[in-house]
Amino acid sequence: MKFDNNIPYKIYLTENEMPKSWYNVRADMKTKPAPLLNPATGKPCTFEDLQPVFCDELVRQELNNDDREIPIPQEIRDFYKMYRPSPLVRAYCLEEKLGTPAKIYYKFEGNNTSGSHKLNSAIAQAYYAKMQGLKGVTTETGAGQWGTALSMACSYFGLDCKVFMVKCSYEQKPFRREVMRTYGAAVTPSPSETTNVGRAILKEHPGTSGSLGCAISEAVEEAVSHPGYRYVLGSVLNQVLLHQSVIGLETKAALDKYGITPDIIIGCAGGGSNLGGLISPFMGEKLRGEKNYQIIAVEPASCPSLTRGVFAYDFCDTGHVCPLAKMYTLGSDFIPSPNHAGGLRYHGMSAILSELYDEGLMEARSVEQTKVFEAAEEFARVEGILPAPESSHAIRAAIDEALKCKETGEKKTIVFGLTGTGYFDMVAYQKFHDGEMSDYVPTDAELQESFKKLPKIAGQK
Ligand SMILES: *Cc1c(COP(=O)(O)O)cnc(C)c1O
Repeated sequence: MKFDNNIPYKIYLTENEMPKSWYNVRADMKTKPAPLLNPATGKPCTFEDLQPVFCDELVRQELNNDDREIPIPQEIRDFYKMYRPSPLVRAYCLEEKLGTPAKIYYKFEGNNTSGSHKLNSAIAQAYYAKMQGLKGVTTETGAGQWGTALSMACSYFGLDCKVFMVKCSYEQKPFRREVMRTYGAAVTPSPSETTNVGRAILKEHPGTSGSLGCAISEAVEEAVSHPGYRYVLGSVLNQVLLHQSVIGLETKAALDKYGITPDIIIGCAGGGSNLGGLISPFMGEKLRGEKNYQIIAVEPASCPSLTRGVFAYDFCDTGHVCPLAKMYTLGSDFIPSPNHAGGLRYHGMSAILSELYDEGLMEARSVEQTKVFEAAEEFARVEGILPAPESSHAIRAAIDEALKCKETGEKKTIVFGLTGTGYFDMVAYQKFHDGEMSDYVPTDAELQESFKKLPKIAGQK
């Protein structure tokens, strides 16, 4: 018998059971994530340093290492109700297909039009911009998921939204671009002629197809040079992990409802927001010495910041206009090979996750993209959902762990984050089906070259 009548196929919370506060894992960390540094002074960024770039309340959240619970404002909770709670699904069909004694659950964040978890933070950031009386926000987008989520959130609150979209995605993903424009956003291919930093990059690298780091620089410049605008970022920052804790809180509440304790928790890691959000409450228990879990970050072999990067202060963007962050990084000049999981192509990793990983509280592994798409297809064929390439990194690791259980006979409970759907990634699926997908992995020499360009700051070679 495939289904267990005691555990529903999908565990949903009621509206009343949805989290009323975000959980700030920093409060339980003995060693706090290293502070952002002001590149001009080399000193930790203060509220005043960050305020010209980010919304006031978001700066407070960014700098708040102490408050364990931060109430979710009613307007945001109301918006969450439009597409949350998201289901925690028992992958009965995948378990059967694999013939594993493991129990597999996934938290599915793709049930909204933007198609990913990014809306959880987009709505929060748009809300605080609106409360501050701002006209609008600027941002960058790579694959387009963040830009789409932010466009939806801005249209909900009547805010202006300017998106710098990495040029190769702008050209290759016209549909994502049009979704953003449908929600009223202005979308500019980056690098562009509309900013100083864009013009400088174009002069130095004519014909470049752009990068996330470069689009960030343009979006920041656009915000600070227009009164009434602020810049917002969809991953990496502490505040984004805070908002994404709604994923982990719901997951934990759903598991608790049925007395289920996971052994392994898995998530894909680009800038670290979905993984950080998913694991936060579990990591909190681990940090407080209450429980132990095996936690696994999965990243692409083509952009392996945790598994092969260095833990050092680095620039968050190519144009070096942003503060410095201490993180596992491949170097801000590192341009990953054109992997199809656009959302995982960032050179750095959240400072929170970097610190937790450095302390050995979580593991990381990297996987090659053809193996990722094999897992994506296997999953889609039995579970029905067409997964995003990013999310499929987590599927790969979950399947691998379930297969290990098949060998050992262990009945482990595996929970993974299924961050989104892959409808806009069909060119990638096509390449996979046609056998045209390659697995480029950077050499040590290439990475060393990139590490040489890390900023020279006190105490860092
Ligand atoms: C952006 C994105 C990711 C990666 O970003 P994180 O900040 O690491 O979570 C993963 N999956 C999907 C579907 C995305 O859109």
